[in-house]
This record gives sequence, structure tokens and C-alpha cells, in this order.
Amino acid sequence: MAVFTPLRRWQPSFRPFSRQPAGRRLLALTERIVKGPLFGCRMCGNCLLQETAFICHMACPKGIRNGPCGGVNDGYCYVDPTRRCAWHLIYERSRRMHREHKLLEVLPPVDWDRAGTETWGEVVRTARKTGLGKIFIPSERRGRTMGSLLEEKVFMPIRQPDWWKGDTEYHPPAVTGPQSALERELRSGRFVVTTEVTPPLTAATAKLREKILTVIPYVSAINFTDGSSAVPRMSSAACSAVAASLGADPVMQISARDNNRNSLQSQAIGANALGVNNILCLSGDSPRVGPVPRGNMNIIDVDSVQMLWILRRMRDEGIYLDGREIRNRPKLFLGAAASPFALDPAMQAIRIRKKINAGAQFLQTNLVFDPDRLDPWLEQLDKEGLLDKVFILVGISPLKSLSLARYLNEKIPGVTVPERVMKRLSDAGDRLAEESIAITAEILVRLKAKKGISGAHIMPLGWEDALPMIIEKAAHETTDLKGAGQGS
Ligand code: SF4
Repeated sequence: MAVFTPLRRWQPSFRPFSRQPAGRRLLALTERIVKGPLFGCRMCGNCLLQETAFICHMACPKGIRNGPCGGVNDGYCYVDPTRRCAWHLIYERSRRMHREHKLLEVLPPVDWDRAGTETWGEVVRTARKTGLGKIFIPSERRGRTMGSLLEEKVFMPIRQPDWWKGDTEYHPPAVTGPQSALERELRSGRFVVTTEVTPPLTAATAKLREKILTVIPYVSAINFTDGSSAVPRMSSAACSAVAASLGADPVMQISARDNNRNSLQSQAIGANALGVNNILCLSGDSPRVGPVPRGNMNIIDVDSVQMLWILRRMRDEGIYLDGREIRNRPKLFLGAAASPFALDPAMQAIRIRKKINAGAQFLQTNLVFDPDRLDPWLEQLDKEGLLDKVFILVGISPLKSLSLARYLNEKIPGVTVPERVMKRLSDAGDRLAEESIAITAEILVRLKAKKGISGAHIMPLGWEDALPMIIEKAAHETTDLKGAGQGS
């Protein structure tokens, strides 16, 4: 076969899947030659250069189309630390060009039918269809600038097709009652504690059940990671279903890395049918940090913002991404991750606003060991009126060993274990476990006193037994913590 279709087998996926007419192929070649060197264009066929300050976002190894992931480290990409994060560069240039407002539009996933094709011809075809000629006649413009008419009549319909219709607006949930026990707890205004149980590496569920039953009395909800660090384990959906059957309120994490737009929607509907109402949308760790042999590290199909947009519309509008109606809509309480120290607070606020606009109702942050360091981030979110629109749960963790503390400090972007915490742990010697629990309880109490914080998300990192001790200890210092989740 390959003899008759030379090179077809090695055809890069960004080339069109069907043979295009000669004129369009020539235009595509010209576009590749011009836009490649000028903008680093990858010919995704779904051009966003105007929204991304003329830097091609496809340079991001994850292919994220709606802003940086939490892995940006001092402006560098964690997947390839030799390269600047493409989205950090886009944010910086947008700021210099006063185009930050462009970063707020929820942009659609790639329409792969258009990948590798030219985009200039499409501008001309759309302009013709919408009667572009009229905008050259001043009386037809009715006081509008040519630029704004072009944007409305030509660029917007191309960029935001009918199956997506993303915008820059906040879309409050269209459902009134709480969709889960966690949402009910958060709405009550009480300080909420959630935790995380690591999914097992085996098919047996006895230990998983035991861990879930240990933490249920102390928390309002339990997260189950979805192949964290790109390592396969029992799925988050399966663990969530086990937890729901035991009376817990699970938070199913869905990682964009392991899902495409179809599986995302199927997972959400399926898990919902099994009693899972909380979903945390993540882009997921790159396979680069996982075990060998590595899977495809190229481009994810939908990013976390797009996942939120799709799931919110399934719940609020009762439609799948392709427009099919969902008769019995899923009941969903949607969350997203936040990395308060990954970018400067103003950049973070853009990212967080976009997630909230797309559908995030709660945020779970990565690990924080110094609550006061959150202040500039919280002040910025408050200034921008975002704190009233989202519940924030701050990630905390008991450190089981000094080597774990060093690992987090050195290897995990956006996580810092302060020197004084390191010293307390090393001075503790044999009492390290006790000291670690005391430190975590202190952080919990300090978080409870902070404006804008709705709760804490305790990530035991495999040390689930520590959770009751942390809650008991913190309960001595503050009220309304012990048994936070009982009866929920
Ligand atoms: S993977 Fe994350 S850190 Fe790397 S370029 Fe993409 S958004 Fe930036």
C-alpha cells in the first residue's frame, strides 16, 4: 500500500486528512512559509493568533488553548524546562500590547477537520458570505469602526463556531439547588475540609474501602486522582463509585491528558449515574513526568477550561458538545485546580476568571505551606470580584519525611516548603510525624481565619491515618472543624 501512497504513512497529523484542491494547497503552503517563521505557526487550521498576541499557542507541548497550566515554573515549561512556557510569553506580550481582555475568551478545541489547512481563504469566504463589501460604505457602518465590524462579522464566526460559542462572560449556574453534598456544605458558609485518597494499584478494593471509611467522618468530600504523575492506577471514576456506595461524597478528577472530548462527556454522564456529582477538571501531568515507555506527549484534545465549558453546558443547557439533547441532565458541581504561586497575581486572576466564567464553582489549590503567601493572590481575586463567585479550598499536606519535603521543594512547580518548616521537621528528629501533624493543624487553623477561603483540601500523600489526628489537633484551636463531614 505504501508503494502507491508514498510518504502517506508518515504524514504528520497536522496535515489535512483529505486531499485539498490545488489552490487551497498552494495557499496552505504560502501560509506555512509566511506564518511559520513569523509566528511559530504549527498550521493547526484553527488560528488564534489575534487572541494570543501573535504567538502560536500550539508551541505549548500540551496544546493548551486557554492559558497556562499549573506547571509553569519561573516562566519556564515543566514539560521541557529548556523552553519558556508558551502561555507565559503570550500573557507577557498581551500585557505589553494592552490586549489582556483577549485572553478571557473561552476558545474552542481544535476542529481536526481543519488541521493543516489554510485559514486565509476561510477569512475571504466568510467575508463574502456576510457581505463584507458593505463595511467599506460609511453609511452602512452606522458609526462602527471597520475593525469592530470585521471582528463581529468575520473573525468571530470563524473562531467561535455554532457548536462552541465561547465568550468572555460569567455564566452563573442555571440550576438552583445544590448538586452535591459538598456544594451544600460550602453554600452553608461553614469551613469545609476535603481530602484525597490515592487510588490503589491493584484491582482489589478492600484497602480502598478501609481508607475511605477512615476519613469519611472527618471530611465533606473525598477526591480521587486520575492517574496523577501520569502513572496508571485504578480509575478515579471507579474509586468515586466505590466511595459513593459507602456513603461518601466523591470528587471525581478528570485529567484532560487521558481523555478526549467524547470520553469526557461519557465519563461525566456515566459517573453521574453512579452517584458522582463533583467533578474536578484538570489538564493533568504530562507523560514526560510518568514512567517509560512514554505515551503521546504531543497535544491534548480538550484543556481544563474547555472541559468546564462542555460540562457546564451539559448541566445547564442539556446538550452534548455536538448539540444533541440530554433528556435527563447530569447534576454536576464543577471544580478546577489553582496554582496560586505559578504566575504573578494579575496573570493568575486572568486564568482564574476564565475558569470561573467557563463553569468552575470551586477551586482546589496545590500545596500551600505558608498561608500568608496567599494574601496577594486573594487580594487580587477580591479586587476583581472573583471571590464571590467561587469557593476556594486550599491544598495542604502533612509531610511524612524530610526527603518528601525536599522533593516537593525541588521538583513540584509552584510548591515551596519554607525554611522554618524544614527546620522544625529536622529539629523534631524521632518526633517528626508528630511535628508534621502539628504544623498541618496550625496551617489549617490559620486558613480558617482568612477571608475568601472556604475550606482546606488535605492531601495526605499516602498518609491517610494522619487526617483524623490533624483534624483533632486543629479542633482544639478552633471550632466547627471536628467531624466536618459527618452526616453530609
Ligand atoms: S505545558 Fe504548561 S508550562 Fe508547558 S508551555 Fe504548556 S502551559 Fe506552559
